[in-house]
Amino acid sequence: MANKRRQKRPPIPDKVRTPLGWAKVHIVPGLKDEEGTRLVGQADFAQGRINIAPDQSPRYAIRTYYHELAHFALEAGGLGKNSLLTLKQIEAVCDAIATARVIEDLGMDDA
Ligand SMILES: [Zn+2]
Repeated sequence: MANKRRQKRPPIPDKVRTPLGWAKVHIVPGLKDEEGTRLVGQADFAQGRINIAPDQSPRYAIRTYYHELAHFALEAGGLGKNSLLTLKQIEAVCDAIATARVIEDLGMDDA
């Protein structure tokens, strides 16, 4: 059973189709925001990029990937920055979507 579940683990792709078009997925060591704060992931709509920091467990990296992908969906749906949602609400929605997708793909936390 556990092996079957592991086989279903989706790899993080090099590129992904998002509601805003294709985005390339990059693994970025030492990923930081403009203020120098370390990040586990980053959605860059202008560049069509999802950046993922490498120093996280495989399960958490997939969750980060789904979280950043959710940012693209919210942005395309008019629920990104400068929308009726606060930044905290946007992050909570992306977390909820990412967690649901990880559980759908991998089951409850067994990593
Ligand atoms: Zn986020």
